[in-house]
Amino acid sequence: MREQLEELLNQAHRNQRIMLRHQTFDLQLIGASSFRELIENIFSTLAKTSDLDIVTLTLIDPKSNLRRILLDLNIDLTEFPHLLFVQTEFELGQLRQHLKRPVLGRYEDDLHGRMFAECRTKPSSVAVVPLIRQNKLIGCLNLGSYHINRFAPSMATDFIEHMASIIAICLENVINNERLTYIGLTDPLTGVSNRRHVEQRKLEEIGRARRQQYGIVAMYLDIDFFKQINDKHGHQGGDDVLRDVANRIKAELRLSDTLGRFGGEEFVVFLINTNQQHAVQVAERIRASIANKPFLLSMGGFCKCTISIGIATLPAVKNVGDIEGVAREMVARADAALYEAKTNGRNQVRCAG
Ligand code: GH3
Ligand code: MG
Ligand code: MG
Repeated sequence: MREQLEELLNQAHRNQRIMLRHQTFDLQLIGASSFRELIENIFSTLAKTSDLDIVTLTLIDPKSNLRRILLDLNIDLTEFPHLLFVQTEFELGQLRQHLKRPVLGRYEDDLHGRMFAECRTKPSSVAVVPLIRQNKLIGCLNLGSYHINRFAPSMATDFIEHMASIIAICLENVINNERLTYIGLTDPLTGVSNRRHVEQRKLEEIGRARRQQYGIVAMYLDIDFFKQINDKHGHQGGDDVLRDVANRIKAELRLSDTLGRFGGEEFVVFLINTNQQHAVQVAERIRASIANKPFLLSMGGFCKCTISIGIATLPAVKNVGDIEGVAREMVARADAALYEAKTNGRNQVRCAG
């Protein structure tokens, strides 16, 4: 009798400790103010508090909108190999039909292979927990254990569901925050970064180039005789051209490059991990893509347009000293090269000496 009582008491203490651990975890999740912080918490803490071997997270991201925003906000998703994105529910395969509630059971390659693709040792039993907000599936949390009996279909899932609902709310919250930040850093006309964002990215990129010892290139672009386009086709025609120019520039860049609208009809690009020769090729492609194809105007008709481009390269060996000073100097050199392109007849690419 006494032994039984002691055992019950011990069990109660163990449960209390587990509850406390989970409460601390909940508070940590709720306190996360950014996407990165939340994801880090989920991956680093959840496995520990819940005694799991593997945790992965799948997010449904239609048209890759979220991924693009995170990339634009300079969040390096390669840091999170266990964070997976799918475009639609259908990519969850057969599982999606059952994801109103958590699905527990043995690991099966067909069903779970994709969510545990990055794990060298596959789990033996798994719980796939739907993340639902406002009756919509936004993703799933995938819990894996090397013990075959850890997750079985008959087990109660109240606790897991509680955790998933907190994670879903927190995810929605940080994603909304990131979207707001993104809107504040985006030029509404063209959808590329605004000046504030470019200024911020410029310092970050120069810092990263210095740490990782690669070259970085600043490109200044200014539409030629844009005033005449406005005069001839009206402000709306000018806006059509600006939007399309931004798209044509973007089409020639890599996702990791930065493109921003600096002011009226001026754009700036930072190409990372590159050299002058490659930058000139990219700039030439941009110049040609604008000069060679007329722009469709929303009021009807077409108009021609050209762009002048100035390039300044910052090789790794020259990336030393005060970062703001280095940035200022690079921008001034790109600006001078642009001025040269203008005075030399426009519609051309020039490099700073
Ligand atoms: P240059 O070849 O020397 O660069 O000549 P430019 O006419 O392009 O340069 P200028 O600086 O004289 O004119 C820029 C024009 O851009 C003037 C301004 O009205 C127009 N502009 C600035 N912002 C916007 C905008 O958001 N929409 C439109 N449609 N026009 C804009
Ligand atoms: Mg200008
Ligand atoms: Mg101009």
